[in-house]
Amino acid sequence: MLINGNTPIEELKGVGPKTAGYFNSMGIRSLEDLLRHFPRTYLVFGGLKKISELKDGEIAAVRARVDSVGNIRRVKNNMTILPIEISDDSGKMTIKYFNMPFMAKAVRNGGYYVFRGRVKAAGREFTLVQPRKYAYDEYTDLSGRFQSIYPLTKGLKNSQIVKAVSSALSKACFSEDYLPEEIRNRYSLPESGLAYRYIHNPESEQEAGLGRRRLAFDELFFFIMYLRKNKELLTDSPNTCPMIESAEVTRFIEKLPYKLTRGQSKAVKDMISDMTGPSVMNRLVQGDVGSGKTIVALIGLLNAVSNGYQGALMAPTEVLAAQHFKTVSDLVRKYGLPFKPALLTGSLGAAAKRKIYDGLSSGEINLVIGTHALIQDKVIYKNLGLVVTDEQHRFGVRQRETLAGKGIGPHILVMSATPIPRTLAIVLYGDLSVSTIKEMPEGRSPIKSCVVGESYRPSAYKFIRDEISKGHQIYIICPMVDEPDDEDADPELQNVVSYSEKLKEELGDRYRITYLHGKMKPADKDNILSEYAAGNIDILISTTVIEVGINVPNATVMMVENSERFGLSQLHQLRGRVGRGDKQGYAIFMTGKDNDRISERLDILAKTCDGFEIASYDLKTRGPGELFGLRQSGDFAFRVADVFADADLLTGASEFADMILKTDRHLKEEKNKLIREETEYFGRNNLDFRTI
Ligand code: ADP
Ligand code: MG
Repeated sequence: MLINGNTPIEELKGVGPKTAGYFNSMGIRSLEDLLRHFPRTYLVFGGLKKISELKDGEIAAVRARVDSVGNIRRVKNNMTILPIEISDDSGKMTIKYFNMPFMAKAVRNGGYYVFRGRVKAAGREFTLVQPRKYAYDEYTDLSGRFQSIYPLTKGLKNSQIVKAVSSALSKACFSEDYLPEEIRNRYSLPESGLAYRYIHNPESEQEAGLGRRRLAFDELFFFIMYLRKNKELLTDSPNTCPMIESAEVTRFIEKLPYKLTRGQSKAVKDMISDMTGPSVMNRLVQGDVGSGKTIVALIGLLNAVSNGYQGALMAPTEVLAAQHFKTVSDLVRKYGLPFKPALLTGSLGAAAKRKIYDGLSSGEINLVIGTHALIQDKVIYKNLGLVVTDEQHRFGVRQRETLAGKGIGPHILVMSATPIPRTLAIVLYGDLSVSTIKEMPEGRSPIKSCVVGESYRPSAYKFIRDEISKGHQIYIICPMVDEPDDEDADPELQNVVSYSEKLKEELGDRYRITYLHGKMKPADKDNILSEYAAGNIDILISTTVIEVGINVPNATVMMVENSERFGLSQLHQLRGRVGRGDKQGYAIFMTGKDNDRISERLDILAKTCDGFEIASYDLKTRGPGELFGLRQSGDFAFRVADVFADADLLTGASEFADMILKTDRHLKEEKNKLIREETEYFGRNNLDFRTI
């Protein structure tokens, strides 16, 4: 939709070679890339408050005088605390900076500044924790305005992106809108060019919402278009990997220490009947977290291997791949299964990788487990018969294309823990058959959950100590990785690194506390998770990397900080990490903001443990145009669209796609040229696998 979208970002104001390099590292090379780099949230700076008006727990800004800069205190774990006394005509208070000794030089005694941060009450005294400092004029400028907060990379500041985007917006030349006015009006969507301005540079919440909605429509529309246009390629292929139902499978199921649930049995039956039938399998198994999808996949893989084919099991993270590998290796040992498995991860050395590639092309390895690297160019299979994708939602579109490109058409099984309502499934999974596992394995007691505010924190920590003393383990989730070096970053969010420092301080040296996040080296992540699984870590503080599929039955408490930042299904997924064995699981959802609407939304988590119910509740209660940061789940990997909140747009986009394709099945007509180009662009740029 951009005529000059290919303009290199170096041509934008304020983007020198160094900044351009940072942009490139985030995959942003052109003006179009930049305009498609959407804010992840907005900050609205509220008006100034008097010190006497402050309330515990809120984020507030005060204009105050610096009365004295205290001494930097060094506390254990190499942490420093810097206290600064401030006052205004209504009272006085203390500011505390952790690990920011340089702030002592950034203010001067007697100077006036605006400080914005979280208010914390200690008795009758108030403190501001890690506030950001502004000059008064600077703050009044920002006050009341919407500030876009972008996903960042190291070295790049939010303010640099804001500047580059504003230059891009003034330079951008939009082509005529592909969407007819009539449809725009029907769904209250702004014109495409305007939508970009709205989403990057809104003047009100409403504008931000409208911009987001329009871009969500486009995203859904081109996704659907892509699926339908390539339908022949993607589905209805004959079965080139015919199999029989192997006796090995029946024997294995009989030997399992538990009985398969009804849903599991049905999924197994569906799967076997596909693999033995006339067409190649394209099946989705959806089931709530903990419903036992892994065993279903392994049964499928066992059937493929017993029929002389190779199998591949793809996971979205290396950690999860390693866990699956361990499960399989244990099963091979215990039941003498015919798997000759290998774990292929990015962190392997070149020689080790080579060996696996050789094993796959000779057929010596019959089951390979790893991330999406498994189907990349270098990997040649002797006779790949089944590919299973765990916990991801790219619907296997690109994957089937890649495989078709290699001249092979294995059966495809996709597993997902994000249940979506049937009406949406038809549109999104139009090309997949669906098996649903509704019930949980027997003997599982539901996770006890509560949604609480800051004031509950001491009790939460006490509860955690009690659980550890029973020999159990704890997860704590924070939304951010580390202290942002960008001063514009959202100060309200807990980050893994400083949080673990704070917690060590709070709980003392008695506990083994470690943190984990997606930016760590895969080998380090693996190491930490194996230590955790072995029971050598009491509390693991992590980002949502552990959201997907990790299985440590000894973990009983899942505490989530800033729960308001996550979608309901995502929170539900997270709590699914505990209570996986016979021990009672607990979830504590902390909310940073004391906001009734937020607690009300989250309360459903305390009321039910049924993922389907939670998803459909979300669908009913989430208004369209809800702002960012509340996306249902990153699982669908749409950049802006949220299949739950934007359900009406999904239907609309689907109808519009039908309308176009009815008269021009292959988008050959001149009037559909734009749509054709955009659809191709979408396919090239948006359907790759998401790794976390
Ligand atoms: P998910 O569906 O979230 O991937 P998993 O496959 O990891 O769930 O299974 C969760 C746990 O439940 C595993 O420890 C698994 O061994 C166990 N499990 C699976 N099926 C059953 C069953 N039918 N009865 C009892 N336990 C089961
Ligand atoms: Mg799983």
